[in-house]
Amino acid sequence: MNKTFLLISLLVFICSIALAQDKKGLKVFISVDMEGLTGVVNWEEVSRDGKDYDYFRNIMAKETNAAIMGALEAGVTEIIVRDSHGSARNILPDMLIKHAKLLRDWSGSHKSMMEGIDKTFDAVVFIGYHAKAGTPDATLEHTMSGSIMDVSINGISLPEAGINALIAGYYNVPVVFLSGDLAICKQATELFGELETVAVKEGIGKAALNLHPDVAYEKIKKGVKTALSNLTKYKPYKLKPPYKMLLTLKKEELVNEKSFYPGAERTGDWELTYKSNDIMEIMKAFRWMH
Ligand SMILES: [Zn+2]
Repeated sequence: MNKTFLLISLLVFICSIALAQDKKGLKVFISVDMEGLTGVVNWEEVSRDGKDYDYFRNIMAKETNAAIMGALEAGVTEIIVRDSHGSARNILPDMLIKHAKLLRDWSGSHKSMMEGIDKTFDAVVFIGYHAKAGTPDATLEHTMSGSIMDVSINGISLPEAGINALIAGYYNVPVVFLSGDLAICKQATELFGELETVAVKEGIGKAALNLHPDVAYEKIKKGVKTALSNLTKYKPYKLKPPYKMLLTLKKEELVNEKSFYPGAERTGDWELTYKSNDIMEIMKAFRWMH
């Protein structure tokens, strides 16, 4: 075997490794809620017994499909959709285009709306998201359940998007795109800094001015593609330890009951405090303290 042949073989070997690495596509996690979908303005529309629920579950799938198409155009090869609203059984399997796997129902773990996320993902996308409890001009604003007035970690008041971004951040995965009402787009941008957003509606008190669904789909597809084509811009959302969670609940009886969670302290008439150096312990406490 001569030296030239060896050199050529080595070059071919190196090139094939580089090509194989190039072919490895991105893996994306899409968490989908309902309150922030275009057109939705009332709880009845996102509740299984509501007259127009079937219509809006279809919008939910179509906004998700728009995100999937944007992801595919950006070269994503693996997509997990996490149904994150109510029963977590809103999107029916064949409503989604075939390139995504669908995670349905609640596992019971503290990952909740982020069930299925781990360190193998490259990016997170939020669809149909809404603002935190108490936000003015926000559609169906609340934080996780109707029992929470506010949740803050290290003095930062968080919407669901913030809690979920911290879970993704634990696995070093950045949130790169969010669609929902204008209020949550503003809250998420303020928290995460760099983030692609699409406001599909603007709250006016309890009313909302909505984009036509077809326009919303087009904007979501384009926004997701843009975000996933510029991944280096985004950083995982993290706070610095030690962590201190303050939870303000709406009912005194619940404050009393949840003060018995191991490690929880009642620090006010309506307030519970929980401290840890581990963000996932904070997430577990949050999951069981409301
Ligand atoms: Zn919801």
